[in-house]
Parts: sequence; structure tokens; C-alpha cells
Amino acid sequence: MYSTILNELMKTGTAIKIGISGCLIGEKVRYNGGHKRNSMIVDSLAAVATLIPICPEVELGMGVPRPPLALVKDMSGDVRMITRDGGSQDFTIRMEQFAVQICNDRLSGISGYIFKARSPSCAVGDIPVHNLRGDVVLENSFGLYARGIHQMMPNLPITDEIRLATPADVDYFVERAFVYRAWLRSRVQTEKDLRNFHRQVRSHAAARCETFATELDQLVDGTGIEDSTALVERYIAELMRGLETPVTEAGHVKEIRSDFDST
Ligand code: SF4
Repeated sequence: MYSTILNELMKTGTAIKIGISGCLIGEKVRYNGGHKRNSMIVDSLAAVATLIPICPEVELGMGVPRPPLALVKDMSGDVRMITRDGGSQDFTIRMEQFAVQICNDRLSGISGYIFKARSPSCAVGDIPVHNLRGDVVLENSFGLYARGIHQMMPNLPITDEIRLATPADVDYFVERAFVYRAWLRSRVQTEKDLRNFHRQVRSHAAARCETFATELDQLVDGTGIEDSTALVERYIAELMRGLETPVTEAGHVKEIRSDFDST
């Protein structure tokens, strides 16, 4: 995989842009004034990525230190972000608006996002939601900010520090980010564009599973889909979802061979 990435770096000369929760790079922005620096992730990304650290709670003006937050399902079934002191403050709408605004203002052109796990703002599917009595009603929800980013950019590779437990996990995330950037830069619109793009990235799919790559081949051939816009949207959604699967050992060898064949 790294030969692919190094080829891409040499071709473009630019690092990928990755959004990251500010506390993960060591900014003292947590509710208690602390941070959660993850040196393995930050150091592993240093050579290939420009990090864009953001703490949505601080940027909303909540201050440091600040009351901790919780996600609560209200009587109408909506999930709200409130302070844990019984809900004296409700940040739901402001946080949802902030996510939209930051996508337009500072996250344009990013290729991935690493969020802090188990945060009411930043979690990627591992924060509980309670009801007004304090019972857990949803085990694995998104934080409100992360949910907003995901809704704005549904194919953007996203993860958290728990999923990036080893340098190999970081490598595979970086790979997904490079594929996503190649997609953004290719500006695929027509079926011909799509076939060209698929040829460039097919080895990444085949490294997961040859069946997955073959399914993408069939999709690109347009089997059963008339509308090219729908085809393009379905392709990138399926590609990015499939790339979340770790590479097998056999697939890794095949991908390296493919990288050398294409140099
Ligand atoms: S998890 Fe998100 S909101 Fe909480 S301190 Fe880190 S960056 Fe800020």
C-alpha cells in the first residue's frame, strides 16, 4: 500500500488533509481542561497528512473547563445535546449548524476525519443516548458534530482513535483517504470517467476481496442501472464502504505486485 501512496505523493507533491478532534493532537480542550493526545496516530500521519484540528465544543464558545454534555432523547423522539447538570443548557441546534458551517468554511477538500471516541460531540457510533429518566435508549449513537459531518460528506473516510489501535490500522485509513482524494480530484461524471477511475483503484478493492472487486467491475459496466449520476453515486458509496474492510495477507501481496506493475 505504501508504494501506492508514495507514488501518489510523488505525482501530486501534496499531503492529504485530515480533520481531527483537537484533543487527539494534544490541545487542552476537554471539558476538564485535559487532552487525549494520541502520539502513535499523530506521528504516523506526520509524513503524509496535514492535520486540521477542531474542537467543536470550544469553537461553539463553551469554554474550558465546561460542564460535561450528554445526549438525551426527548419526548418527541429527537436526540438533544444538553449539559449533564439536568439540561440547564441545550446546544443541539448550534452544534448542528456548526457542523454545516465548518464543512463549508474549513473542511473543503479534506480526505478523511479522525474523531475522538465516546464523545457526545465527536463519537463515531459509540456514545449512548439516554431518555429523560436516565435509561440508555440507544447504545451506539454518533456525536452530534460527527453526525453532521457524516451527513454533509457521507463517503468521507471517518474513524476514531479506538479503531486506529495499531500503525497498520492507520495505514489502511490513510489508504482510504488517498483513494477518496483521488476520487475528488477525478471529478467523475460520465461512465467513461468512472471506468478510468475504477481501473486506477481496482487493486485496493481486490486486496480486500476479489469478489468485491468483481462486483465493482459489474457495477461499472452499468448492469441494470440506466442513470449515470445514480451509477456514479452508488459506485463511490460501495467502494468507500468496502474499503473499510481490512486487507488480507494475500490481498496485501497482490496489491504490492499491482503497485509495482503500474510504476
Ligand atoms: S472530543 Fe471533540 S468536543 Fe470533546 S474535547 Fe475532543 S475535540 Fe473537543
